[in-house]
Amino acid sequence: MTPRAWAGLTLVALVVLLVVATALLVPWHRPPAPRADQLAALDELDPADVARGRAFAAALRPGGYGALAVGLVVALLLGLTPLGAKLIALVGRPFGDNWIAQAVLGGLGVVLVADLVTLPFAAWRHAVVARYGLSTQGWGGWTVDLLKSYAVSAVIGAVALLGFYTVIRLAPRWWWAFGAAGAAVLVTLLSFILPVLVEPIFNRFTPMEPGPLRTELMALADTDGVPVKDVLVADASRRTRAVNAYVSGFGPTRRIVVYDTLLREAPPAEVASVVAHELGHAKDRDVLAGTLTGALGAAAAVVALYLLGSSGALLRAAGVDSVAEPRAFPLLLALVTVAGLVAAPAQAWVSRQVEARADAHALALTGDPASFEAMQRRLSSVNLADPDPPRWEYLYRASHPSTVERMAAARAYARGAGG
Ligand SMILES: [Zn+2]
Repeated sequence: MTPRAWAGLTLVALVVLLVVATALLVPWHRPPAPRADQLAALDELDPADVARGRAFAAALRPGGYGALAVGLVVALLLGLTPLGAKLIALVGRPFGDNWIAQAVLGGLGVVLVADLVTLPFAAWRHAVVARYGLSTQGWGGWTVDLLKSYAVSAVIGAVALLGFYTVIRLAPRWWWAFGAAGAAVLVTLLSFILPVLVEPIFNRFTPMEPGPLRTELMALADTDGVPVKDVLVADASRRTRAVNAYVSGFGPTRRIVVYDTLLREAPPAEVASVVAHELGHAKDRDVLAGTLTGALGAAAAVVALYLLGSSGALLRAAGVDSVAEPRAFPLLLALVTVAGLVAAPAQAWVSRQVEARADAHALALTGDPASFEAMQRRLSSVNLADPDPPRWEYLYRASHPSTVERMAAARAYARGAGG
């Protein structure tokens, strides 16, 4: 069999594995709470809050979709015309067309161009978020955050690009196999490393003061059978008024992280309901499942890129001879961008199913649907959410059930538990 035939077979195997893993790990059968309950919940929300959430969503919409559209057009322009290949060659020229310069600096240059064209949209978004009072950050702090995230992406990108093109040079016929394995390893590593190494670049974390709340949260984790090392408070208020909490790390390094904004805004019973939701993610190993499916998806993507990349039409459009040369990187980026846009609704659906399961876990663990519902109201109000977003937008990109769905789920639970 030729390497190409092996690649085809590997891709089929990876896709089957991905489908099986998703089928086993994602809770399929979780019907949303009845629409009548959702509408009743919507009726009870403060109309001023609902109007503000909708106005905020409407104000963000043009920039959000504008950025998607412009990002797609630029990715296609760079990848499906010789423009991107020329840019890579141009960056490599001062270095004597050295392949490392082309692969790493050229690759990062192309990504930077794609970032810069959507930068005005990001700035515009910050202006809207600041105007609505959700951001507490000035332009200085915003710029520093932006530069930090560019720096983090550049480091990760340089490692990935150098690794990828080194493998291609060492194994010109079988690079897709090593590349697929490398992509899977990189996704897995990042999922472990990012919370530990990258989060501290953006926020400061301090252990929660001993007291009734900390004791209650640790007891909650204990009841749940989820060992937790510590409860940390993140200084999120330096950039936002939004409230949140999450659980990060695995096994002995697992910790509960609570935004300082949440502690300021919400009474302890509501903080407990947020943390109980996060413990649900830990207990159901949602991060591990996400890492596994992400690793399989990344491996499948590398093999698919190899197969697609041998299409003569695509190579001619990009003005390159082979998908394996660094000058073909913009073509790969264009294909990945399109795939990301196409896969978004499926990813959002999976995420909503997983989030709904964590909600059910929180209700069962705390047995306190009233606080859960109060917390959902508060989240929606403080975070300026549209509690019942338009259906098309919800289906395309909502990562969580809507506020009214979550409130209705609490009511369904209360009816079941209270009899
Ligand atoms: Zn969640």
